[in-house]
Amino acid sequence: MPRRTKILATLGPDSSDTESIRRLIVAGVNVFRLNFSHGSAEEHSQRAHTIRNISKSLKTPVGILCDMQGPKIRIGSFSEDKKISLKEGDKFTLDSQCHPEQGDEKSVFIAAELLEDIEQDNILLLDDGRLTLQVSVKTDHAVDCVVTQGGILSSKKGVNKFGGGLSANALTDKDKADIKTAAALNTDYLAISFVRSKEDVEETRRLLENAGSGAHIIAKIERAEAITEDFLPGIIDSADGVMVARGDLGVEIGDANLVAVQKQLIEAANTANKVVITATQMMESMISAPTPTRAEVFDVANAVLDGTDAVMLSAETAVGKYPVETVKAMARVIEGAEKHPLAQRSKHRMHQTFQRIDESLALSAMYVANHLQGVKAVICMTETGFTPLLMSRITSSLPIYAMAEKPGTCEITALYKGVVPVPFDASNLDPSDVNHCAVEKLREYGAVTHGDLVLITKGDFVNVHGGTNTLKIVRVGDVIR
Ligand code: PGA
Ligand code: MN
Repeated sequence: MPRRTKILATLGPDSSDTESIRRLIVAGVNVFRLNFSHGSAEEHSQRAHTIRNISKSLKTPVGILCDMQGPKIRIGSFSEDKKISLKEGDKFTLDSQCHPEQGDEKSVFIAAELLEDIEQDNILLLDDGRLTLQVSVKTDHAVDCVVTQGGILSSKKGVNKFGGGLSANALTDKDKADIKTAAALNTDYLAISFVRSKEDVEETRRLLENAGSGAHIIAKIERAEAITEDFLPGIIDSADGVMVARGDLGVEIGDANLVAVQKQLIEAANTANKVVITATQMMESMISAPTPTRAEVFDVANAVLDGTDAVMLSAETAVGKYPVETVKAMARVIEGAEKHPLAQRSKHRMHQTFQRIDESLALSAMYVANHLQGVKAVICMTETGFTPLLMSRITSSLPIYAMAEKPGTCEITALYKGVVPVPFDASNLDPSDVNHCAVEKLREYGAVTHGDLVLITKGDFVNVHGGTNTLKIVRVGDVIR
């Protein structure tokens, strides 16, 4: 049984050569993240090129997700890039008039526009919450703070405000330039950071379209505002998927709230037929150790049981010492978790009515797949990947083979849980041979053998979006038309 939950791995300086990328794909990476918070446009384009080449030579469709930096709000640098040590009770000032590269033990630079959103008594979190400051006095150009949790602080660390509300446009000028780079390297997914509302998603979509890209958009949920009833439904509706960006989100809402929010976001995305990624610190200790902690094993497994499409690796594969071992460990843990009944049975939309024919068909197919004995695979002939997306919202232990000809469709479906992308060109086949050839393809994969039942969904015409209207049940070995 192929692994259902997908692995999204971030590439970095230590993992981007041809051999590393090849080993990561073989170990189980389904989609690579190119993190535009680091590295140049040329580096990312080179990585994309390498990924496409290797994916092709391995005959394994692998997606690319370009992740925009967004307005990560940062302090300036310290003189000579040194690190400073702050102790509880120390005074420390964030000052817009400080030289951006000459901070010291007393103060460091912060952009003036950020100060507008900071008030007396606010709690500021530096470096993903490792240090905290409480604002004691606000002046016209600075905030004087008292250190409430000390630690080591180095240049350009992120600043968050507890409860959220440090405003900044989700799309910076750098992001706008990077969207063009991402479009030019033909990315499958584009992730936007610090999304506030559906308008951020809509603007991103416009910019992508202007750059000639139809990339699917992932909204990273990492601001306190984004999870409120005022904004979340619009964000989910306008994006193609969401990321539970636990690093920054945890800083803004407090770690105690993360667990419920992860479950809520995964469920909301699944219900809305959107894809969902769970991210950050999943295998953190493997940056420097060859095996995960038990806590990490359970974290990955619980995300699987929550119903995520994909789990993400960040520094573990970008700069860690054991990138390939980390992917292998993650794959192993996912497969273990998927043996649990919670990962196999569905209650999804049992009591709802449907509007669309393709939707009804996709869900009926999965109902049959989950209830008819002897079914070993679902084949879904697809143009855009939408029908396999609908199918993959249903929990099941059966693989969904998305057979697609259109360039990019296999790479998009590589992120969907339970979906195995299969490049398949039906355009030159006699319509009466398509089903037979599709089943033969699965036989070549070793996915089915004589006597197995296979479900096939397709439309009347190949290469038409939204046309799925037929479900067929065939037995391997019979004459298949
Ligand atoms: P980042 O996003 O790694 O780009 O910060 C993920 C997160 O915040 O969890
Ligand atoms: Mn983040």
